[in-house]
Amino acid sequence: MPAYCYICDSCGRRGERVCASAHRNRPMPCECGNVMGRDIQAQFCSSKERAATAWPQYCEQLGVHPSQIPEAIAADKAMGLKTKYTPDGRMEFGSAAEVRRFCKLSGYRGNL
Ligand SMILES: [Zn+2]
Repeated sequence: MPAYCYICDSCGRRGERVCASAHRNRPMPCECGNVMGRDIQAQFCSSKERAATAWPQYCEQLGVHPSQIPEAIAADKAMGLKTKYTPDGRMEFGSAAEVRRFCKLSGYRGNL
């Protein structure tokens, strides 16, 4: 199972959880009493240098099992996101703008 990163918007604590991809978006309890949301920046776009690298970039942490690709695309579309996945299930981003749009619409944290 993959590891997913989380961050608490209240206290800034970060956490990591290994879980099934189907449970990746479930909030994670924080020691401060609030809950942590997914921290895509920590997983995928952790530095400005990475943002300047060649596109497309592929994200394993946002990936799904290959059998779940059609379901994931439909769920993303319902949020207003047009996403692409590689045949092995990794999410594909064509530009930093796509990452920003994904983070904005999905509610994930990221600031490329
Ligand atoms: Zn907290």
